[in-house]
Amino acid sequence: MEYIVIIFLIIMSIIVFKIVFKVRIKEIKRVNENKELEEFTNKFPENRKVTEEILDMMENKEVTIEEEKDTKTSLYIAITNKIIISDMKNNYGRIQTIAHECVHSCQDRTLLLFNFIFANLNNVYFLVISILTLCSVIHNYMLQISILTILFLIEFSVRGFLEVNAMTKSRFVAEKYIDKKNILLNSEKEKLLKEYDKINNVGIPFTLFYLFSKGLIKIFIYTMIAIIINLIWFFNIISKNKTCKLITGFIFLFQSYNIIIKVYKS
Ligand SMILES: [Zn+2]
Repeated sequence: MEYIVIIFLIIMSIIVFKIVFKVRIKEIKRVNENKELEEFTNKFPENRKVTEEILDMMENKEVTIEEEKDTKTSLYIAITNKIIISDMKNNYGRIQTIAHECVHSCQDRTLLLFNFIFANLNNVYFLVISILTLCSVIHNYMLQISILTILFLIEFSVRGFLEVNAMTKSRFVAEKYIDKKNILLNSEKEKLLKEYDKINNVGIPFTLFYLFSKGLIKIFIYTMIAIIINLIWFFNIISKNKTCKLITGFIFLFQSYNIIIKVYKS
């Protein structure tokens, strides 16, 4: 019964989080289409040059820059101190996106490394306890759910802080860079910055929602494993039919997973 309550609470938390933060996934997809603003940003140098100039402006000379044509997301890798710039042609958000990665490269190094190492260890821990639970080595499921919850809270706070900090600052770094280049008319700059504010208004709640639900889904999956094992144990008593036990377990898991994905995408 307690597992059902946990599943219910996770689904309810995701729904409530989505409502109070007004997360609109369709709006996120629409945000990068604007021909007029693309023309403005096309006046700026190519992405590598913009990154170099912004890093220079922030007095950060240690970072390596790499351009990747096959990827759609830019990112900063703390462990190698490298910025990977995605293929962002005709994307008016590119100045702010590059500024975002540059801000990451200037954030507190201890926090960045902690975030990187902790997130990876957390994933490994989740995988190991899931396998050990499925193999009936671990029996105290509630203890593992509590540990996963604490790990989730630490990961969410650190990563959430780093992302919100980078997104908030990147808008002002972008403005400073635009001013420094002096390529745009005042009216053009205002239009572009207005859109950058819009991106943050939609993007910051979305990022928090994404990190929140991604962490909770792990607890959700582990709780489902606990429910399935309990179900199998229950059917072991009332039925000798193994296929029946497994099918019931998987239908239950699949249906619950579907519900959470629907909530996430709606
Ligand atoms: Zn980021």
